Amino acid sequence: MTNSAPQNSPRIVVVGSINMDLVVRSARLPAPGETLIGNSLSEIPGGKGANQAVGAARLGADVSLIGRLGDDGFGDTLRRALVVEGIQLDGVERTRKCCSGVAIIGVEDSGQNCITVVPGANGRLMPADVQKQAQAIARVDVLLLQLEVPIPTVLAAMELARTNDVVTILDPAPAIRDYPPELLNVDVVCPNESEAALLTGIEITTTESAHRAAEKLQQLGARQVVITLGDKGAVFRDASGHTGHLTPFPVTAVDTTAAGDAFAAALGIRLAEGGSLQDAGRFACAAGAVAATRKGAQPGMPSREDVNELLN
Ligand code: ADP
Repeated sequence: MTNSAPQNSPRIVVVGSINMDLVVRSARLPAPGETLIGNSLSEIPGGKGANQAVGAARLGADVSLIGRLGDDGFGDTLRRALVVEGIQLDGVERTRKCCSGVAIIGVEDSGQNCITVVPGANGRLMPADVQKQAQAIARVDVLLLQLEVPIPTVLAAMELARTNDVVTILDPAPAIRDYPPELLNVDVVCPNESEAALLTGIEITTTESAHRAAEKLQQLGARQVVITLGDKGAVFRDASGHTGHLTPFPVTAVDTTAAGDAFAAALGIRLAEGGSLQDAGRFACAAGAVAATRKGAQPGMPSREDVNELLN
């Protein structure tokens, strides 16, 4: 059975990565050159683009994803997982003779982890792939972007959205050392603390320093800013310079891996529904908090009911 969004749901296009997360658990992580016997292996669909697409679909949006899969078995499994969520995949092509994106995540009993990401087909998503989907981008309310696909592709999608008055939201994750300045020509940027620090040069240790970083991000070109602060919630700064701290929802966190993805998806939906930045930020904090209470990236994405329950 597949889910599909009701008519007049917010419409969102996500351009981004699709990965298989292979989680290997062992008593401790192997040392270089060592062979260890592990305890378990789980295959969990992930990738920031796919996670945000699933997050937005579960919250009730009509979602299309633009990305690339390899021609391997993971590609088949990942595609099926997205179809079940009701996500439109006309913009997801397979790259021949290429693996799908994979993250190999070693986790030891102490919780310490070690991750190798192979971008695979995600690295082959080109500006031309986005341009082929120009019509799909032109008719949505919001475009959601992250940085696990080539940056020229992200910039091409932004440009298409801007010329069609589509709201652009950039989650500048994973953190990169030299962010091209034109990435901040967006309606909303939603970095976490370390991404905001790399973008602004301001170390974020308090909500006060987060507010200073938000102001700097606005000076650098972003119209509106939300900086996520993990279990300390988030700060926002809207287009008119109105600022505030969004207090976190008290939850018992189990796995915060995809909290930021749930946050970005929820922010996109509420803005598409006409919410203010403050209102959308609060909704997104609730979505991030629910995701933090669940294991796994895509399996942990909350539904609308989950978020409403926490909000009420
Ligand atoms: P990222 O995964 O990108 O580093 P964060 O860890 O900042 O993102 O989480 C995104 C949002 O999810 C936070 O702004 C917060 O609202 C919510 N969140 C994350 N972890 C927790 C937590 N332990 N308790 C409550 N809310 C959380």
